[in-house]
Amino acid sequence: MKQNVQNQQSQSPQKGNPLVGFFWGILIVLFLNWLIFPNLGNRQIVPTDYGTFIEKLEAGKIKEVMIKSNQIYFTAEDGEGENVTYQTGEINDPQLVDRLLNASSPNPNGKISFNQIVPQENSPVLNFILLWVLPGLLFFLIWKYAAKSMQAKMGAGGNFMSFGNGGAKIYADDSIKTTFADVAGQNEAKEMLTEIVDFLHNPKKYLEIGASLPKGALLVGPPGTGKTLIARAVAGEAKVPFFAISGSEFVQMFVGMGAAKVRDLFRQANEKAPCIIFIDEIDAIGKRRDTGFGSNDEREQTLNQLLTEMDGFDGRKGVVILAATNRPESLDKALLRPGRFDRRIQMELPDLEGRKAILSVHLKKVKHETVDLDIIGRATAGSSGAELANIVNEAALRAVRMGRTSVTTADLEESVETVIAGAQKKGKIISTEEKRLVAYHEIGHALVAAMQTHSAPVHKITIIPRTSGALGYTMQVDNNEQVLMSKEDLFNRIVTLTGGRSAEEIVCQTVTTGASNDIEQATRLARAMVSRFGMSDKYDMMGLETVNNAYLGGDTSLTCSSDTASDIDREVLRLIKEAHEKARNIISDHLDIMHKAATFLLEKETITGEEFMAIVQAQTEKS
Ligand code: ADP
Ligand code: MG
Ligand code: ZN
Repeated sequence: MKQNVQNQQSQSPQKGNPLVGFFWGILIVLFLNWLIFPNLGNRQIVPTDYGTFIEKLEAGKIKEVMIKSNQIYFTAEDGEGENVTYQTGEINDPQLVDRLLNASSPNPNGKISFNQIVPQENSPVLNFILLWVLPGLLFFLIWKYAAKSMQAKMGAGGNFMSFGNGGAKIYADDSIKTTFADVAGQNEAKEMLTEIVDFLHNPKKYLEIGASLPKGALLVGPPGTGKTLIARAVAGEAKVPFFAISGSEFVQMFVGMGAAKVRDLFRQANEKAPCIIFIDEIDAIGKRRDTGFGSNDEREQTLNQLLTEMDGFDGRKGVVILAATNRPESLDKALLRPGRFDRRIQMELPDLEGRKAILSVHLKKVKHETVDLDIIGRATAGSSGAELANIVNEAALRAVRMGRTSVTTADLEESVETVIAGAQKKGKIISTEEKRLVAYHEIGHALVAAMQTHSAPVHKITIIPRTSGALGYTMQVDNNEQVLMSKEDLFNRIVTLTGGRSAEEIVCQTVTTGASNDIEQATRLARAMVSRFGMSDKYDMMGLETVNNAYLGGDTSLTCSSDTASDIDREVLRLIKEAHEKARNIISDHLDIMHKAATFLLEKETITGEEFMAIVQAQTEKS
């Protein structure tokens, strides 16, 4: 990486690292310690008591005595003529000196050599240095170091790169292998991006006519729809340098650094043109500037810099900016105006064909037998590309677990359920009575679904518990993908959701907690019908709720007065009650089917939609 040399606040050559100074400090302290404390070499010191000392003294074994800060260190001969150094506490013994003078010793002159070391008072100068100058010096050095690195990070042009923050990652021409072939479906997006690829390949064609390419394209869509993937594919197709950076990387601790990074990114891009800049998750810096509590100076500065840079560069030079977000509504309007991100590329959740295509792209990466893509595609309505990729991988893992060498349709089906409802929980023990309740609950859903028009056919019913906590579930799979939902469709869905609870009530004369998820879903649907879809007579086409971020969970907020809000609740309740009543009627009218199917389900634990429909058919013909 290039080091910026023309740093304006050029400083005198760096004097040693402050850390080195710190270690010097420690060394000095150690040295002073060594001065103050007695140098006993590295002889081993054996602690002992005063009595032993006197004993050895009287036995004439002691060669040397040293008294220091209330401790007596003495060296004596042990049995084998070796010298051992002992340590003992000093006792106020006035005759000690006499004893030492009179005692005999193995020393050649027969005398014990002894002395006392008086703890030295540090000189006032030394004290001053130790207590005041040294710490002060340390703090000064640390402060200077911090200040300098901060200055460098904020300095004009900033040589921040030398501090290891790194600029945008630079990919060489051929380092990106992703192509449009890796992105399944998303044909509209690909079409729009093909133009950009073509421009980067031969700009002459466009320049002759006087057209300049859109400077920026914004990829918008729910998480996991392949935004990041397709941006890489554009670079792979165009075979130009690709600068990929995530929006959050711009937001730094120090104000001004983000802006410096943007400047640096565009400078590099200009040098490498034609090339692509890709800013992933741009909402991290591109959020509207006026909203929110407490403005974020750093983010705003970064955004302003980005806007300026986008205006500043020549569109004909061949620098294309791609950005991705799943929160387009939160972006600053200035970003979206023509001349900046003027092209918006929508990445939607895949439809049936799209899902099949994505599945087959990912199935190419694993060994598999002929797989019924249609079944899997239909069972995964609403899944994103990332989820589908995950499903294929889970299936491959399952195949390995089962000791097989290739993936089958059954593996895929099972992994779809694993992704939807969690893994099977075979070990869980459920009492017979509970099993019976679960079976009736699930058959209740299935029967209500089967007895209504405008309702997706039942695909599978199971009472094998799942790790997600579901004790069983009924899977419905639509034959064809519905884009529009009518009022009847939605209402029938609510009826189906209340079917489980209705079965508990009618057949088992009880209610259980098993319906909590049904209740949640039914309420959400009913509320949406009233407040967003204009499907109640009372509120006609009045919008009472808005969706906050369509791509992320889609939570809503009310746009009506609190009076109306409580009235909405009443309306929702009315809808749900009506649906519940309908479900109860269906079940009461077909109790024979309920018993027959539930018995069959209890026996098999998992039954297919066809098996269930056969029972339904047989019973209706009988009656
Ligand atoms: P996003 O950026 O939109 O959140 P990604 O591009 O990171 O989503 O997609 C995550 C993964 O999902 C990809 O790496 C890829 O494996 C898979 N994926 C998503 N969409 C597609 C698609 N259209 N075709 C093939 N794979 C896809
Ligand atoms: Mg992404
Ligand atoms: Zn249920």
